[in-house]
Amino acid sequence: MSALPMPAPSFLHHYAGLPDRFFESVIPAKAPKPELIRINESLAAELGLDAEWLRSDEGLAMLSGSGLPDGAKPIAQAYAGHQFGGWVPQLGDGRAILLGEVTHEDGSPRDIQLKGSGRTPFSRGGDGKSPLGPVLREYLVSEAMAALGVPTTRALAAVATGETVYRDEALPGAVFTRVASSHIRVGTFQFFYAREDVEGLRTLVDFVIDRHYPDLKESENRDEELLKAVIRRQASLIAKWMQLGFIHGVMNTDNMTVSGETIDFGPCAFIDEFHPETVFSSIDRQGRYAWINQPVAGNWNLARFAETLLPLFSDDREEAVRIAERCLHEFETIFNDSYFDGFADKLGLSGAAEMTRPFIEKTLGLMAESSVDFTVFFNSLTRFCFEGVPLELPESEGWKSWLEEWQKWKSEDVEVLERMKFSNPVIIPRNHRVEEAIQAGMKGDFSVFNRLVEALANPYEECEEFADLKLPPASREKVTATFCGT
Ligand code: AMP
Ligand code: MG
Repeated sequence: MSALPMPAPSFLHHYAGLPDRFFESVIPAKAPKPELIRINESLAAELGLDAEWLRSDEGLAMLSGSGLPDGAKPIAQAYAGHQFGGWVPQLGDGRAILLGEVTHEDGSPRDIQLKGSGRTPFSRGGDGKSPLGPVLREYLVSEAMAALGVPTTRALAAVATGETVYRDEALPGAVFTRVASSHIRVGTFQFFYAREDVEGLRTLVDFVIDRHYPDLKESENRDEELLKAVIRRQASLIAKWMQLGFIHGVMNTDNMTVSGETIDFGPCAFIDEFHPETVFSSIDRQGRYAWINQPVAGNWNLARFAETLLPLFSDDREEAVRIAERCLHEFETIFNDSYFDGFADKLGLSGAAEMTRPFIEKTLGLMAESSVDFTVFFNSLTRFCFEGVPLELPESEGWKSWLEEWQKWKSEDVEVLERMKFSNPVIIPRNHRVEEAIQAGMKGDFSVFNRLVEALANPYEECEEFADLKLPPASREKVTATFCGT
């Protein structure tokens, strides 16, 4: 009996159905010797994709960009953006190619995009390729974020191309398949605003509301409501990052989605020893995107987003600015609520904000002073509450009185304490572990990477098998700088 032919994905093309100036058609480059590194089977299942097909020759051809199935319509999306505050009128997908959308089991579309499959009309001086390192990093960190419960783009696959790419050195090339609820960025709006293309902005607003904010369809002030909705999602996203000690690293407007998903895992990293001013990104010399500055950066980006909507708010510029300011004004409150509520959950607190907020700030201040490991500290509180594991706090008067205060503020309510378990992960993708996985991968050994992916899939569960991966870096293992590596 012959096996039934396996089904290739059937792509939809909502984005490619937009007017021509939204994108450029492209043909991905052929990979000389594609080899599969990993497929995300559970995500494939959610997307109705046949994992067996993805593993087949045809599947591998698609995931490496070497040969696309019928029905794919490869395009590079146009966008602009502010990079570290400097305006760039045209960026666009220089090393990413959208194949189309597929339908998630939740009923909504997801973009399937190849990263690193060659040049596009937006590549400028770049080669459109990606070294293996950034592919493995994005796979690990984006999937960890998803498992941690943070809105994020996802990893469907990583494929080695068999090609050498040249950066400062010769490196193995790879292609990453990214899944996102869309790839529309603040910078996409800026692209049309900068060109005074109000029709383009209207089309984009319709598209975004349709895809991400369907509740706003019938709203009378759709443009204003859209701004508020994006502000809400971004404020809550940035608060979540901070509660996990995550530093995005390149919060440029082209790296901020309007869906509220984390995107672009370049020089991102999780904090080990807590210091609020921590920066890892080698290109962020001023500390613009340090852990503590992320809400300021987010708010600034949202102001750039608001600016693009001014022509839609009102013909009267002053009135339009008033509307934008009114919406932007809400960011701080929404962010603070989200930020402090999340930290209250981490500490098992349930009191009124006037009491818990100063205590949260005091806790973070003490943590910074004594360089405690962010993840280990919060996880030890959970273990103390649930398993009676004694707390190992730094020896000091400050911590002694902190402990007394914590015991006082800590809730008695089991439901509140239960939230600690899902707020304080046991394991995060620590930099030295990500680095270790990349280094082994460069030598052709993906077992370290695969083990780390598996460990990070259940970040809130204690697991003996992965106990070593929980540990902070020894001093010789510390990673002090991360690179985009593009
Ligand atoms: P990113 O740092 O990933 O946000 O990228 C910023 C801009 O540079 C985007 O327009 C990218 O498409 C482009 N870019 C990054 N790496 C490359 C590359 N290797 N080749 C071409 N364009 C690139
Ligand atoms: Mg980017």
